[in-house]
Amino acid sequence: MTDPAANLDAALRPKSLTEYVGQEKLKDKLGVYLQAAKGRREALDHTLLFGPPGLGKTTLAHIIAHELGVNIRVTSGPAIEKPGDLAAILTNSLEEGDVLFIDEIHRLGRVAEEHLYPAMEDFKLDIVLGQGPAARTIELPLPRFTLVGATTRPGLITAPMRSRFGIIEHLEYYTAEEIGTNLLRDARLLGFGLEEDAALEIGARSRGTMRIAKRLLRRVRDYADVAGEKVIGLDRAHDALDKQGLDAAGLDDRDKKYLETLIHRFAGGPVGVDTLATAISEDALTLEDVYEPYLIQLGFIKRTPRGRVATAHAYDHLGLPVSGMDGE
Ligand code: ADP
Repeated sequence: MTDPAANLDAALRPKSLTEYVGQEKLKDKLGVYLQAAKGRREALDHTLLFGPPGLGKTTLAHIIAHELGVNIRVTSGPAIEKPGDLAAILTNSLEEGDVLFIDEIHRLGRVAEEHLYPAMEDFKLDIVLGQGPAARTIELPLPRFTLVGATTRPGLITAPMRSRFGIIEHLEYYTAEEIGTNLLRDARLLGFGLEEDAALEIGARSRGTMRIAKRLLRRVRDYADVAGEKVIGLDRAHDALDKQGLDAAGLDDRDKKYLETLIHRFAGGPVGVDTLATAISEDALTLEDVYEPYLIQLGFIKRTPRGRVATAHAYDHLGLPVSGMDGE
């Protein structure tokens, strides 16, 4: 079965830098790099994009290929375990100037990663033929391609890997206004009514994340449709978002559980991420990748050398007296 949400997503995905909302500084820089590469008829330097999930890294990789007028091949770190996986991708259908997008590049197999170095640097691939004493290595030339890597965890990118990227940029959370602008565009393209303040409200509760905003818009639209409303207004947005269990800052039950556990069980911290993860039955990686970046962005928690600490903003947000804070 095809996934209707995925089809819709592909149709709405911005194709050019001008359609891509927000990330202004990044777009400015990238615009120059793209223009320069095109002017010199060269492949764009290898580019590493990092930032939390759903901020638009994959979309940007497609835009880069589109702006350069080249093809894009899409794969991911976990799909490239062995050097053979890498060889198959690099030698099949990759043409001069093309973009190879590797999502979750921090999850590349270690040996495959080492084979990627000469491919990135010298556009060649060493392939070992045969086994044992009869084994020999042949060098396969590759087209000059652009690797666009995306990661949510830049800290896990090895130093040799990192040094092979000419462009390293991070994506930022979107403002409610930026998200609102994009939702209004989506509504226009899909042909349904969305009032500006309703779009802003969804934007404010989307954790600064485009993917979440799009999902919330679909849910709000469901409520409006069932209620027979042709245009989604602020009241409908409010009501439907409340029903999703989202508070005014866009925090859901899991975020609240995180903060409440940190505050009530660990006196506001500091507490190690593993201990905290166990206490709320999550794994530490999910806490670090999904929950914490946004809580840090809101200024609700801090990562300190001794562990996680809840800030006065978090106490405030939960309606708890700041006097209950320990050691702040
Ligand atoms: P990531 O690769 O960072 O996880 P995606 O590129 O898959 O994120 O983006 C998630 C969704 O949000 C996609 O539907 C994408 O089209 C949309 N999106 C992300 N960033 C933007 C943007 N700046 N402008 C418009 N749409 C965006």
